[in-house]
Parts: sequence; structure tokens; C-alpha cells
Amino acid sequence: MINLNNVPARRRSWAAAACGAAIVGATVPAPAQTGGTANTVASHVAAAKAAADDTWLILYSELCGGAMGFGGRASSLPPARGGPGGGRQSGPPPRDEWYRDPVKVFDNLYVFPTADVNAWAIQTSDGIIMIDATYDYSVKELIVDAMPKVGLDPRQIKYVVVTHGHGDHFGGAAYLQEHYGAHVVLSQADWDLMLNPPPAAPKGGKQGKAPAAPVTPPKKDLVAMEGQPITLGGEKVTPVMIPGHTPGSMGLIFEVIDRGKKHTAALFGGTILLAGAISDAGLQQYLHSIDHFKEITKQAKVDVELQNHPLYDGLEERLAKLRDRKPGAPNPFVVGKSNYQKFLDVQAECMRAAVARRVP
Ligand SMILES: [Zn+2]
Repeated sequence: MINLNNVPARRRSWAAAACGAAIVGATVPAPAQTGGTANTVASHVAAAKAAADDTWLILYSELCGGAMGFGGRASSLPPARGGPGGGRQSGPPPRDEWYRDPVKVFDNLYVFPTADVNAWAIQTSDGIIMIDATYDYSVKELIVDAMPKVGLDPRQIKYVVVTHGHGDHFGGAAYLQEHYGAHVVLSQADWDLMLNPPPAAPKGGKQGKAPAAPVTPPKKDLVAMEGQPITLGGEKVTPVMIPGHTPGSMGLIFEVIDRGKKHTAALFGGTILLAGAISDAGLQQYLHSIDHFKEITKQAKVDVELQNHPLYDGLEERLAKLRDRKPGAPNPFVVGKSNYQKFLDVQAECMRAAVARRVP
């Protein structure tokens, strides 16, 4: 039913990090399936496969592969180096394991990618809005020092919108706040998570073998509210609350310009999860959040899909296509309104399959 051999080999890296810790640290129970349960699982997997079509094959194979107990990329990652509170082993990893040059993706949008997590910069007439800040060790070289390569000035960073309170997203925010006076924006729930992270697991615990080094959070600043946009220079970034991965994870919706033409982008900022990453109650909340995001992005006519992890949407392949883009060819990040909805459908159906599989 699922041929995982069709999926390109994904990068295995130490740095699945804060978000990955939750994925790697858990396992999916594999109860014996009754006929009814098996049928339910199969129907959700079939629905996911139909939604995936050719566009979301990696997403489908990883998530539904996990749901069917085949494991996926995330389940094959080595133990994460940091706990969900954002800690990591002390000392940065080798530069060549994480560093990538920034890329201009739209007229007003730039990506700062690493192997496992990425930040975005929206350029406006009044300054820059950052979406996430990556790790504390990567923010200076990956973002600040690299900005001039794509014509940006880090002194123009006015806001850092952090999608959720894990260290691979907020780690660099304190630096940007301290050096450039940037305002840092999170949901209230994830300010609480970030400023009061749960204790790291003891040695040998499921968060990894070594105790995690704490990451310094930014000072308490602005609180994002559902539907109330962060505005700068005519650009609006609208938060949508999508709890599940963390209590205050946010999706973001904003306008991008491709060679003068307007599009609407959405970034599902709570990491896409395999079912084993969260409790049954968490799964239901996560499913509800996907439904909510689906409704809002449909209303907003979202036609551009973006992520803050390059795990499941083929970021590197898209960047390669963008590099070789011919005049008149489409921007590979513009997936179309229908395909954006299907992106969320694949997530939801694979998760529903996983939930059904957990019922003995
Ligand atoms: Zn996370």
C-alpha cells in the first residue's frame, strides 16, 4: 500500500533538536487490530493518499508510514540532543552540518535554511519581520552575517515572530532583541513554556543521553493573539492558534509577492508530527488545530505553502527548482489553493489513521 522506497532518502542529522526530541522520544503502541479498526485505518490512509497525489508524497509516506507502523524519517533519527524546553548539548555542532546560504524566495520573502530548521524574513518598507530565529548558536552566522548576501540589513529587523516556544525556533531571538531592539512575539502559552521550560530528562532518559544545556530566552515582550495581525510597512502577519505540538503553537498567514503578483502564504508553525509524539488527548487537540487552520487558510485563499522545518515539504528540492527557474515558469512555492488544503488533509488523515490504529 505504501512504498517507502519511492521516498527520497532524507537527511539524517543530530539536529532534529527540540522539536524532534518529542518525535523521537516517543513510540507508537501497536495494538492488535480488529477487522473494523483495520478498515478504519485503511480508509484514512486511502484518503490521505488521494489527497497527497503527486504533490505531497513525502508528507504522506512519512506520516502515514508512521501511522501504519512502518516508521518514518523522524522515527529513524538518532536521539535528539535537546529536550523540548529548548536545551541542547553544550557547544555548537560542526558548521558544515547546518550552515546554508540564504535564498530570496519571493520579492519580499527570504529563507535562512539549515538542515533541520529554517527562519524566514519578510522585507517591508519599514523594516524586516523575522519568522523564527533558529538556534542560539546559528543566529549570528546564518541570519545576521548572511543578510547582506541577499541585500538585507539586520539592523532593520523590527519583529521576530516565534511560531512556538522550542529552542530551535526561539534560540536566536534573544540575540536579535538585544542587538537590534527587535520586538519578540509569541503566544501567551508559549511565552510561559519558553520562560518556564519543563526540566530536562535525566541522563539516559528518553530526551537523549546527555543533560541538555539551557537556551537563554528573550525578555518577555509582545503577546500574539488569534487573528490580530502584526503589521509593519503595510505587511500583515496574522497568527492562528494551533495548539498540539506545544500549548501555544501558531500558524501564520501573510502576503508574498512573486514577480509583482500577490499570493497568500501560510506557515503551519507547530511542527508536523508523527502520532507517537503526543498523547491521545494531544492528538485530538492537534487534529482540531489542523481543522481550524484549514478553515482559516481556506477563507484567506492561501496558495503558498511554507514550513519552519524542511522535513516534509521538499524545501531543498523547491530551492533547486527556484534556482533553475525559467522566465514565465511558476514559483515552486506556489502550490495553489486546492493543494494547500490537501497538504493539511494529508496531515489530518494520516493522524486519524494513527488514532484509529491505537484503538485495540
Ligand atoms: Zn517544536
